[in-house]
Amino acid sequence: MSGDYDLDLFVIGGGSGGVRAARIAAGHGATVAIAEEFRYGGTCVIRGCVPKKLMVLASRFSDDFADAAGYGWSVGAPTFDWRALVAAKEREITRLEGVYRTNLEKAGVRVMDGRAVVEGPHAVRLLSTGEVFRARHILVAVGARPSLEPEIPGGELGITSNEIFDLPEQPRRILVVGGGYIGVEFAGIFAGLGSQVTMSLRGDKLLRGFDEDLRDRLGAAYARKGVALRFGTTLERLARDADGAIAARFSDGSSGTFDRVLVATGRKPNTAELGLETAGVALGAGGEIIVDGYSRTLVPSISAVGDVTNRAALTPIAIREGHAFADTVFGGTPRMVDHEIIPTAVFSTPEIGTVGCSETLARQRTGEVAIYETAFRSMRATLSGRDDPVYMKLVVDARSDVVMGLHVLGRDAGEMIQLAGVAVTMGATKADFDRTVAVHPTAAEELVTMRTRAR
Ligand code: NDP
Repeated sequence: MSGDYDLDLFVIGGGSGGVRAARIAAGHGATVAIAEEFRYGGTCVIRGCVPKKLMVLASRFSDDFADAAGYGWSVGAPTFDWRALVAAKEREITRLEGVYRTNLEKAGVRVMDGRAVVEGPHAVRLLSTGEVFRARHILVAVGARPSLEPEIPGGELGITSNEIFDLPEQPRRILVVGGGYIGVEFAGIFAGLGSQVTMSLRGDKLLRGFDEDLRDRLGAAYARKGVALRFGTTLERLARDADGAIAARFSDGSSGTFDRVLVATGRKPNTAELGLETAGVALGAGGEIIVDGYSRTLVPSISAVGDVTNRAALTPIAIREGHAFADTVFGGTPRMVDHEIIPTAVFSTPEIGTVGCSETLARQRTGEVAIYETAFRSMRATLSGRDDPVYMKLVVDARSDVVMGLHVLGRDAGEMIQLAGVAVTMGATKADFDRTVAVHPTAAEELVTMRTRAR
């Protein structure tokens, strides 16, 4: 710590990016404080990735029970208890929240509860006590929040991913608005748990930005599962029925009645009323903090990482940005985060794993693209009789043979893409895939046995 300052670093926001930055900076010898207004762990741990994945896992048991019969098992009629799941989920995230807090304390970080706001290039006020801290560096890692857009009459009857994890009852009929990550994941969860799911999608496919074949196949799989997909519709109004249900009217004149309406139309950076503008920090049109490759804002002492910067709104990216910031500022090793190749999974059922360019993007970027693809039913489906599709695609630069993109739909696609992501990040060629020995019998072996160019 130095002269005029109380602290070397004040981190605002105890989510993935902020916690990592605080711990690493403290490890480099900095005096660090962190403030969190809700619960340590942030969106990922408290109302995002972690509880979502637990619910995805819960939702897949319904298929598992049914599939077991094909393998000789007799399972009694299974029943599901939403409240038991919510309570179990809550115990786990409370445990994780404690782990986050303990790890910060072990690293020597001063952990504070309450909202903190910027009062100048080196000043942060903790609103709960009114205390003002003078910090050599300020890191803003306050994340994003779900948007309730578009604004429509009765829009307040909708809920977001902030509320969905703790509903007192499982909705029997749920409308999901939006077909991005969150929309498709929750549609899959509730379909698996036995709810009637309707999705309202303003476009003509799910998951904009993903490879078109994944989009088409996920849409077809959801339709076969019984999810009602209302493409080309927007929600026009919501109103409470006499019996307490929610009546929805869509832009095509159709209507429907639901117990819950989940609005998953994107997330907005949490920059309102944080004092950023008064300190001279520039914000973009969507409210995101504008930063350079080292996560620095226009104010030299203020940096920002994670969803609040809206670069790639993913936990592992926020963690990397936080870590790189701490190494750069306090560790003497300047590092930028590469946002170019990002393996990612969508925990829909069937699952999606993807890394690198979609076929469309690859065609825009390079002269000649070679596509290798395969579609089959999972081995498990042979005896279960379930429609359990698997699809894999390799997008290859035909001139250099480098694999530009790899896309998987099907069971364990997320696990596959983590490992395949190593190869793609390393710049593997199709020839490298070809000379890799297959692991048999697995689904993933198809990634190294595709010999014939599809187009
Ligand atoms: P996304 O941006 O992924 O998707 C938003 C969806 O809402 C799109 O289908 C979009 O349609 C639609 N939409 C947007 N505005 C409107 C509107 N005004 N009217 C109707 N529909 C609209 O946002 P999410 O909320 O799903 O997720 C936010 C981010 O969180 C993700 O981008 C991702 O970075 C992260 N995330 C990652 C997860 C993971 O890694 N597994 C899981 C969950 C979240 P259109 O396609 O036409 O634009």
